[in-house]
Amino acid sequence: MGQDRGLESDGWTVHGDGTVLERRKIGPTVPRNRRRGRPFAVQSFRNAMSRVANRALLLLLVVPLIWTTTSCGQGAEPRPGLDAAEREVLMKDLFWLADDARNGRRAGSDDAAAVREWLVGRFAEAGYEARVMPFDLGNGIPGGNVMVAIPGKGGGEDVIVVTAHYDHVGVRNGAIYNGADDNASGTAALLALAAELAVSPPSHDVLLVALDAEEWGLLGAEAFVREPPVPLERIVLNVNMDMLGRSDAGELYAAGPGRYPELKGPLETVAARAPVRLLFGHDDPSHGRDDWTHQSDQGAFHAAGIPFVYFGVEDHEDYHRPTDDADRINPEFFAGAVETVLLAFDALDRLEFSPRVKG
Ligand SMILES: [Zn+2]
Repeated sequence: MGQDRGLESDGWTVHGDGTVLERRKIGPTVPRNRRRGRPFAVQSFRNAMSRVANRALLLLLVVPLIWTTTSCGQGAEPRPGLDAAEREVLMKDLFWLADDARNGRRAGSDDAAAVREWLVGRFAEAGYEARVMPFDLGNGIPGGNVMVAIPGKGGGEDVIVVTAHYDHVGVRNGAIYNGADDNASGTAALLALAAELAVSPPSHDVLLVALDAEEWGLLGAEAFVREPPVPLERIVLNVNMDMLGRSDAGELYAAGPGRYPELKGPLETVAARAPVRLLFGHDDPSHGRDDWTHQSDQGAFHAAGIPFVYFGVEDHEDYHRPTDDADRINPEFFAGAVETVLLAFDALDRLEFSPRVKG
């Protein structure tokens, strides 16, 4: 496909054990003033960063050495899993989102607006100032994505965007479609990642985005890509979560590396120590409906040439039925899936990405 440009042609360097890709084409000489003219929310944390610009510049010089050392040596310790309190919060968030009182979180509804307000509050509890990014669902119906910007400690240009859609399909024929797995689970996971990153800040700049109107055809993701809060060229990766809450087989998929093979090595390392079975696939364009590339929000990023990893489970008997309820979530699998995504995010955040577009 013509739009399948991406990391393949950018030439990452995979390190010995496959966990590290080295920066080849950008370095400390990238002019810092390329950052000018960015929208306020993201610029504000950049202004804070400029106070330590010299230190950041130093870091850029030193960090590749450190990574070379750690990847060839004993390696970074895997982060601990979620503790009992964190698991409880995870389930509590999921139950809130999938409660009958949310009326199925239909895009454009007052219920969706209430969810946005709740998300802003939950992000605030983790120490973030979230921003609602409104967009038109059509005919003036209001939609909105909820975004948090987290400055990376690496001081680089690259941005990782982590997404999960919070909307579901609402009420049909009097039945509430609670969408517990689809996608209260991913939304709760996004909040868990936010809490994690508040404690251990990422290397890359990160945008966490709870997306609206996935169920209407990826509208929230498309709105985000159409009017990105940072230049699209800076976005090197989309990590999308949609349906993490249950799997009779105990299997979670990481789709995307089939199209962006450089992502596979680090994810294989994660799979080897993940608490759930992490499988690859569902990203081969010759497999028709079995190719999930365009079936959730990562499709909008992929269409813009942005590499992605999509985390999700196979469809199950309650998929898009009013029975996709919170009490059918498997708490053990769900926590394990979230821990796996946290491990994967950590591994992906350690990568050095080449710029997708040369200036
Ligand atoms: Zn979904």
